[in-house]
Amino acid sequence: MNCIICGNSAESAICQNCAGLEPQEAIRTYCLNSASKNPLQMSQAIMNHPGFPVAGHLHHALVAAVLVAAYRNAGGEVSPEKLDEAIKRGNSIPGGFCAGFGADAAAIACGIAVSLINGNTINAEHATGRAQAHALTGEAMLNIANNSGNRCCKRSVYGVLELATNYFNRVLGSSLEAPQESIRCPFTRKNKLCNGKACKYHPA
Ligand SMILES: [Zn+2]
Repeated sequence: MNCIICGNSAESAICQNCAGLEPQEAIRTYCLNSASKNPLQMSQAIMNHPGFPVAGHLHHALVAAVLVAAYRNAGGEVSPEKLDEAIKRGNSIPGGFCAGFGADAAAIACGIAVSLINGNTINAEHATGRAQAHALTGEAMLNIANNSGNRCCKRSVYGVLELATNYFNRVLGSSLEAPQESIRCPFTRKNKLCNGKACKYHPA
């Protein structure tokens, strides 16, 4: 079989080398090597890394990175430097931001991806590009705002990536792929704050 992170032949789903990576480096390695156009499937592969936490700020870098990589894999022009910048910007949002600042960072991470893809600046020629980034952040923010119960980073990732896949295809003219079957979260047992059957992604 091949390692789901680096793609090299391996004796288990994740090779020894990749299993020892820091999760941030696992995001980068996966996104540099993956040919997938399916951001949700990409996020699930990375979240399966043994070092990837149940919750926390790494989910922000994850969302920004898989969107940039999937856009590239669907034929979009985006340099490896932009992938690194996506991870860097995602990681720069402080821990606790989602609860304390009135804006969920998984939603902001979607806007980071579009900002990088469009090469947005503060100048007039990028007004449309900025509007595209802000509109996706806004839609993703409302998606998360419609959740109830405990906060769950897995649920936020699934929700915003479902929405962003649709948005990229509709607004950016990309051809990202959505999962063919509904998402069944494999992390419910690990997550002490799992909302159980109240969550649309719970496998029950
Ligand atoms: Zn590997």
